Amino acid sequence: MTVTVQAVPCLSDNYAWMLRDAATGTVAICDPGEAAPVIAALEAAGGRCDLILLTHHHGDHVNGVEEIRAKYGATVIGAQADAQRLPKLDQAVIPGDTIKVGQTEGQVIDSPGHTLGHIAFYFPDGDVLLCGDTLFSLGCGRLLEGTAADMFRALSLLKVLPPQTLVCCGHEYTESNARFALTVEPENEALRRKAEAVKAARAAGKPTLPVTLGEEMQTNPFLRASTVERLAEIRTAKDNF
Ligand SMILES: [Zn+2]
Repeated sequence: MTVTVQAVPCLSDNYAWMLRDAATGTVAICDPGEAAPVIAALEAAGGRCDLILLTHHHGDHVNGVEEIRAKYGATVIGAQADAQRLPKLDQAVIPGDTIKVGQTEGQVIDSPGHTLGHIAFYFPDGDVLLCGDTLFSLGCGRLLEGTAADMFRALSLLKVLPPQTLVCCGHEYTESNARFALTVEPENEALRRKAEAVKAARAAGKPTLPVTLGEEMQTNPFLRASTVERLAEIRTAKDNF
């Protein structure tokens, strides 16, 4: 594997994600919502942070940026479309661009819906997807700026990635998402088993992420919705759940 990934719990239920390129030791941190736990994780991993990757502009994903940038001199990468409302970008990217974490290449994927300038980062060689607040385990992001059609298109771009892809989401929402998902697909055996496993993991204080895309394809009603209308319907139902 060319990159390894580690969850760094932040705030009440956020995750920042730490990536390390095996060949060069280059370290990237995605979506540092606060500085202290991220700096602690970076120090434990060798005290290096080369890159900060941002999926979208919300404070719980960017509020740690300036302190981490100042301490490590990290290069901050985010969407050009959202440059005005992100922390100052050193590298502004557009969907389709390639970034590099050491020798490992990452693809920038358009991921609108939760916010309009939202992007995801996909590293094919390490099977790592950093999807911010677009896709959650057993859920998807709220449509705060985009439409159901935007989110459907965003999820369509993620669905086609290999099943072994490690989905690294911005929040630990899996247990509450499972309760809703079971109301949508009560007969889904894989989902029922998953809901039990998630409950046990959370009771033991363990993260439920990352999760493979293959598992999500079997259990996540938002990812399984085959039309925009169906996605819109279950998104509205979840908002009122
Ligand atoms: Zn957000």
